[in-house]
Amino acid sequence: MGWDIGLDNNSKLKSINRKLIICFTFIMIITIMSIRFFVNTSFISSFEKYVNDSNKAELQHLLDIDIKSIYINNNWDMDLIEKLGLDAIKKGIAIEVYNEDNEKIWSIFEDEKVLSDETLRDISENMQSIDKKWDNNFQEYKVSVKDSNNKEIGYSYIGHYESTYYMENDVELFEAVNKIIFIIGIISISSIIIISIIISKSISNPIGKVLKIAKTIADGNYKQEVIYKSDIKEIDGLIKSINKLSKDLNEQENLRRQLTGDIAHELRTPLTSVKGHLDVIISGIWEPTNERLISINEEVTRIANLVDELRKLARFDSGKNTLEKEEVKLENYIKNIAYNYEENAIKKNILIKYEIENIEATIDKEKFAQVIINILSNAIKYNNGNGEIIIKAFERDNMINISIQDEGIGIPGEELKNIFERFYRVDKSRNSDNRGLGVGLTISKSIVNAHDGDIKVFSEINKGSQFIITIPK
Ligand code: ADP
Repeated sequence: MGWDIGLDNNSKLKSINRKLIICFTFIMIITIMSIRFFVNTSFISSFEKYVNDSNKAELQHLLDIDIKSIYINNNWDMDLIEKLGLDAIKKGIAIEVYNEDNEKIWSIFEDEKVLSDETLRDISENMQSIDKKWDNNFQEYKVSVKDSNNKEIGYSYIGHYESTYYMENDVELFEAVNKIIFIIGIISISSIIIISIIISKSISNPIGKVLKIAKTIADGNYKQEVIYKSDIKEIDGLIKSINKLSKDLNEQENLRRQLTGDIAHELRTPLTSVKGHLDVIISGIWEPTNERLISINEEVTRIANLVDELRKLARFDSGKNTLEKEEVKLENYIKNIAYNYEENAIKKNILIKYEIENIEATIDKEKFAQVIINILSNAIKYNNGNGEIIIKAFERDNMINISIQDEGIGIPGEELKNIFERFYRVDKSRNSDNRGLGVGLTISKSIVNAHDGDIKVFSEINKGSQFIITIPK
């Protein structure tokens, strides 16, 4: 059986890991796709726009201001033209200047052929390495050059690549940003991997531990405890439940052992007494007088009662108890039950008082009577006599409460939690005449629970006890 459980959980564990891996791979794919999407759409287009704008501004400056000042005092300013030409080619702009007779004054393609060829080739190569489809079409404008009197004295050709082009520093910036995005990508993917490992471990580690303990529990070793703290609520709950289960099983096991001893003891004492009496009667030492037969009969009755209790308990344990509920007027119902016990109470000089509201409850009459009988007879039994027992019934918060309060010997605080356990008796020696089997309250609790209700107990030693039964209206 233990082996089966092990196998079962192993296959479950695998599926947890597999599920997590699928989940995290999915997250990773989404992350990579989002980064790619961001780079392709948002980043590249923003970067292109930035480069286009700055190229345009460069060109505008050249046309608006610089070109206008190359002809001064009826002369071409050759130094300025050359300086402008060299500056411009560094920004991807080629300049040629002609006079009005179409004679060339200066041309980047001739006067600085090496530099211009190299620069334009570099741009083209750079751009094609970034985007293979980049178009290296060259575009030229003709701009007229005027003197200070606004007379046209020549013209200039200004050319650059038609498509967006990056200069050296743009490429550097582009690459730097790309690198940052790449690093961010690597960091996020590694964090996902690390987080997924941590999460998987934090789930599968404790489950593994719980599994191991569950297996030893299944093998019958109940004293095991899972000593592991998990910050995952469900797993923490699972560990607590397993520990509680193991503790409960351990207690049940102890109770079961105790029960065997108890039953043997409970039955043995009256049986020995009956046998002793019968032996001496059979051997002729004693006359079988009526008195002696009555005494034997009492012992036999006691044995019968014990067996009866055991049978009831077994019936409740097997869960065959279906309730046959009906509506009952509580006042008559409770009083009819309690009247049978008044005689016992009077013998101990105890007065039973009733404070019962005129209410109805839907209960299984016979089984519920057992609850009241058990609690009421305990109230009389565990009582040194004199005083009162008050039976109350009232409705509160849509619940019906039945309280039975005595002024008996009380129950020590530390025992209160145990009295509903089967075969549990407080201080077995303290009331040896009236020993029960310790199942009355166990049965009562099962019956009340079956009615979706509960029993609470308040008690103070030597002052008395109060049992309150609560059931839904
Ligand atoms: P028992 O057959 O021993 O009466 P119960 O399950 O009815 O078994 O009760 C369990 C134990 O709880 C009793 O043995 C007794 O020690 C204690 N007990 C129950 N009711 C009272 C009470 N009203 N006053 C004092 N002790 C009580």
